[in-house]
Order: sequence, then structure tokens, then C-alpha cells
Amino acid sequence: DSVLQIRDMRKYYEVRDNSMAALMNGKRIRYVKANEKIDFDARECQTVAIVGESGCGKSTFAKVLMGLETATDGQVVFQGSDLADKPVQTRSPQEIGSVQMVFQNPFDTLNPSHTVGGQLSRVIRKFGVESDPEKIRERVYELLDLVKLPRDFAKRRPRQLSGGQKQRVGIARAFAGNPRMVVADEPVSALDVSVAAAVTGLLMDIQRSYRTTLLFISHDLSLVRYLADRVVVMYLGHIVEQGTTDEVFAPP
Ligand code: ADP
Ligand code: ADP
Repeated sequence: DSVLQIRDMRKYYEVRDNSMAALMNGKRIRYVKANEKIDFDARECQTVAIVGESGCGKSTFAKVLMGLETATDGQVVFQGSDLADKPVQTRSPQEIGSVQMVFQNPFDTLNPSHTVGGQLSRVIRKFGVESDPEKIRERVYELLDLVKLPRDFAKRRPRQLSGGQKQRVGIARAFAGNPRMVVADEPVSALDVSVAAAVTGLLMDIQRSYRTTLLFISHDLSLVRYLADRVVVMYLGHIVEQGTTDEVFAPP
């Protein structure tokens, strides 16, 4: 079943241009085309990779889905409701909880002053997975087991973790609220090769056992070829090719 349908989505950023030339021409607003004619689907339990070089529009598309930006045009239908023009401030806790993100830099989501256990329990409570303190504790331990970190890491703060360990917590946090879909934006690009392989393997294992739809955003073709069911290739804001991983990587 299809969980996500993107239809003819377009995103232009409005940029204020304060140069003298812009002032003289009266053209104070410039438009940066980030996404144009974006059309694709993601199905239940599928891993869909979005690939393309830096600046081609991969993150913009993820931000629209997460409600961090709104689309200029088109539809982003997730579980039957259109989120294209729905900023995160106007979304219900259920809507926010059902699509979660793993960032390249785990500090984007991890609060440096809170313990790992504290941040995970906040997510568990916020998205209504558990409310009883004992159940929340059990769920935190279950999440730490899932990302293969010792249970006493619940007491640590982000600065007491290595890069790979931080990203494991970032992944645990994304899955804490039982989302239907996880968007991973270059989740291992900042990690050493051997650590990256372990964290990728872990992410794929959890995606499979939780039957979550995964959007995996990456510039790394060999990684994508290894893990994706479907590949969407972007170039300069457009989708230039999409299909099964075998189709996209077939020799011409
Ligand atoms: P399922 O088991 O859900 O039917 P498959 O992966 O076996 O899915 O694909 C069945 C057909 O649907 C194939 O032709 C495939 O290319 C197409 N398909 C699969 N996923 C998508 C998608 N996300 N968007 C568009 N077409 C898809
Ligand atoms: P990618 O994730 O593939 O690196 P992005 O989606 O971040 O690509 O960027 C797509 C295009 O949009 C780039 O030209 C980038 O400079 C531009 N862009 C991204 N964010 C903004 C913003 N907040 N304001 C203006 N332009 C932006």
C-alpha cells in the first residue's frame, strides 16, 4: 500500500536581494527554484532512496514533508492527508509523530543538556506511546537495546557519546514514537566508514522489524544501491529518473 504520494510538488524559496542592482531595478525578491515537478510514491515498509549531488533539492523536499517548509505548489499526501501547506506548528501530535527524521548531525535533535533517557522518554510521552513512568522506562531500555547501546547510557548526556553513539540515539529517538515513516537525511555522512556501515545496518534492521517506510536521502550511490528498494534520482531540483534499484542501476 502507498503511504506517501507526492504530486507535482514545487518549492521556490523567496530570497530578499539587498544588492544595489536589485534596489535600482525594484526586484528586491529573488526566487530560488529548489524543487520542480516532484512526483513519486513510497509504499508501506519500502526503503526509497533520494539521491543526487549537493544542492539538487533533496533536503528541501524532506523539509516540506516534515512541515519545516511549505510547498509553493502541488500535493504531499501522507496517510491520506495533504501536508504540502501544513507547517509543523499547525500539525497534531499524531501527525508529527507519524513522520520522524534522522539528521546528518544528531545535535540537530539531541538536546545537549538532557540525558539520553530524558530525551527518549519525552518523545514516548509526547506521541502517546506510553504514559505510565515504569512503562516509559521499559520502552527507553527497549530502544537502547534496539540500537545496541548499553542500558546505562540512559544516564549519559550527548557530549559523553561518540559520533556513532550519538547517531544511534538519534535513530532511537526517531523510532521512539512508533512512526509510520522515517526520513533519514544523510544519516551516516558525518561518520567514519566502519561506523557508518554499522549504523546503516542497524537502521535497516529496525526499519524491517518495525515495518516502517524509510526515505533515505543520500549522495552515496554505492550505499543506496545496497539498501534501497526504490531509487529516485534528482538533478537541479527535478527528478531525472526513478524505479526499482535494479532498474536504476542497470547498465545502459
Ligand atoms: P508490492 O509488493 O507492494 O506490490 P512491489 O515492490 O512488488 O510492491 O512492486 C509492484 C509494482 O509497483 C512494480 O511494478 C513496481 O515498480 C511498482 N512500484 C513499487 N513501489 C512503487 C512506488 N513507490 N512508486 C511507484 N511504483 C512503485
Ligand atoms: P540538497 O539537500 O540536495 O543539498 P537543498 O534542498 O538543500 O539541496 O537545496 C536546493 C536548492 O535550494 C539549493 O540551490 C539551495 O541553495 C537552495 N536553498 C536551500 N535552502 C534555502 C533557503 N532557506 N533559502 C534559499 N535558498 C535555499
